[in-house]
Amino acid sequence: MKIRDYVIGANASMYYRLNFKKIKGVYYPKSEQELIDIVKIAREKGYGVTPKGGGSGLSGACTGGDRERIMVSSLRMNRVLTISKDQKYVDVQPGATPDEINAMLEPMGMKFWVAPSSRDIATVGGILSTDGGGNDTWRNGTMRDNTLRVRMVLYDGSILTVDWSGVKCENKKIEKALNSKGMTVHDVAGSHGTLGFITEIRVRINPIPKHTLSGGVAHYDDLNELGDVLAKMINEKCSIWYGEAIAEAHPDVRGDMKPPLLILEVPEENTCDLKGITGYKPISKEKLQQYKDTRIKLPKRNPNEGMQVALFEGYGFHGTSLRKMQDCVNEINDLLRSHDLEPFAKYGHGPSKWYLGDNSPAYGIVLHSREIRPPEKSGPEVFEAVKDIVALCKKLGVTPKPEHKWPFSDEVKNARLSEIRQALGEGFNEFLLDSKCYDVLASMV
Ligand SMILES: Cc1cc2nc3c(=O)[nH]c(=O)nc-3n(C[C@H](O)[C@H](O)[C@H](O)COP(=O)(O)OP(=O)(O)OC[C@H]3O[C@@H](n4cnc5c(N)ncnc54)[C@H](O)[C@@H]3O)c2cc1C
Repeated sequence: MKIRDYVIGANASMYYRLNFKKIKGVYYPKSEQELIDIVKIAREKGYGVTPKGGGSGLSGACTGGDRERIMVSSLRMNRVLTISKDQKYVDVQPGATPDEINAMLEPMGMKFWVAPSSRDIATVGGILSTDGGGNDTWRNGTMRDNTLRVRMVLYDGSILTVDWSGVKCENKKIEKALNSKGMTVHDVAGSHGTLGFITEIRVRINPIPKHTLSGGVAHYDDLNELGDVLAKMINEKCSIWYGEAIAEAHPDVRGDMKPPLLILEVPEENTCDLKGITGYKPISKEKLQQYKDTRIKLPKRNPNEGMQVALFEGYGFHGTSLRKMQDCVNEINDLLRSHDLEPFAKYGHGPSKWYLGDNSPAYGIVLHSREIRPPEKSGPEVFEAVKDIVALCKKLGVTPKPEHKWPFSDEVKNARLSEIRQALGEGFNEFLLDSKCYDVLASMV
């Protein structure tokens, strides 16, 4: 077992100052029945329940905030239960990672096509709860697009299954109420552990195609030009295998790269005029690997002086904000500097896809962001910057944290989750939908 499997407080977000006295129990169930027994203990004592997968989520949701709660890990529920190559699905327990699932599928020529960069540690339960995806989301969709059915244990101990047509639940009153509200997989996607504990997911799988890929890189004068190119790629439905932009990067880490640039890996049978649209120049396999490595190392390397932080993990530029990306980034950087935070790097998946709070899909680019934080800056002060960025994103038409959604600022999604929770019980991860959520998060930076 790895160290992360033992340490329930460990999480990748900047919200790590937990009050451990409020954690009344830590459980690692191996079966659904054990989980039901655990939820019963929480219910009888009046504690909340916080589900936790790999702890790689960046929104702080898997910390459970500051409530008296029990923490329940899915890491011992990580088996692949059924593989149907013919019907192209796999039933899997929530604690399995995409890498673990694919280690079983790839020898069969099949693959589960959801690939966040964290796919070696993130669990399918966590990925669905954050509606994650990777740099292939443009081609393969987010986790919800790859989910056929979900099974969950609710706070009252009953088992619920939900698919794209509706809900079945042992508790018929809950079933009726949820079906009248039209609950589907959409509602579980991005629910951040607020509805129940996911115990099983039926995920879509597809064959691994055989084709030759070639690499290329394109450079642009500014981010508005890059945004225009991405908008054209989206319009033309260009098929790419890998699309990663480096929008800006600190000189200490960017080597000889000259951002803004777009790294592409494309199949030979591409239907659109990708070279014409993007202006990319073909590069060798070795050079492609070098670009990919530099990109992947950006969040892992510090400048020669100072330390980088993931203050605000993701910006989703789409529609007008995609075409005005440079103007938007300038405003965002000005705001960061007004909080004494120095922009360090912005890079990410493009073209990409994500869902808005009303379940409509958005297409654009997901830019991850890193900043240099002055050592004297307190946690609550840093969090003030986060709040200001959320407000600025709203003004600019940029989705904050699109991949692992910023649950606290999406009013439409929050209202929907609250509506669903009224029907199925409110004992899971309560702090997230509370009006004091911001204060709680600020206290944990
Ligand atoms: C280096 C790094 C790279 C990353 N790259 C990407 C990326 O490319 N794309 C992307 O989308 N994300 C990325 N992330 C973010 C993160 O990996 C995702 O948010 C991931 O989906 C979280 O999965 P997890 O198992 O770690 O969940 P956790 O962090 O443990 O939990 C996340 C949320 O899911 C809930 N949850 C977990 N398990 C269950 C369950 N069984 N039932 C109900 N609720 C549950 C938790 O309560 C919490 O609200 C990255 C993170 C890191 C650290």
